[in-house]
Amino acid sequence: MKHTCAQCDGDLRYGEDVVQVLQGTNYGAITPAWTKTEAEWHRRCFDGEFDLRSQRPPYKCEKCGKPLAFGEAFRCLVIGKGTDQYSSVAENRGYEIFNVEHTSKCLE
Ligand SMILES: [Zn+2]
Ligand SMILES: [Zn+2]
Repeated sequence: MKHTCAQCDGDLRYGEDVVQVLQGTNYGAITPAWTKTEAEWHRRCFDGEFDLRSQRPPYKCEKCGKPLAFGEAFRCLVIGKGTDQYSSVAENRGYEIFNVEHTSKCLE
């Protein structure tokens, strides 16, 4: 895929600091499995616009406060380095993810 910043519409070049929204399934890894990249930004474009609230495992949904169950779908932000057009998920993501929430409606 071509990588374009959702804020400034510029290219996200290989190796640049990027922020991505990932959607996927919780199988106990740092980042979700079967991920889909929903949006991405230059780190510098993102920082002025949004907050990053970091989490480490076990992850909790920010909307309902419940822990993510194994196999549950969720959405999160990651920070990493831009990849080429053949990959979708940023590299060198580190050990934190941000702004975790269920993708489906939270159960009461
Ligand atoms: Zn940008
Ligand atoms: Zn939830």
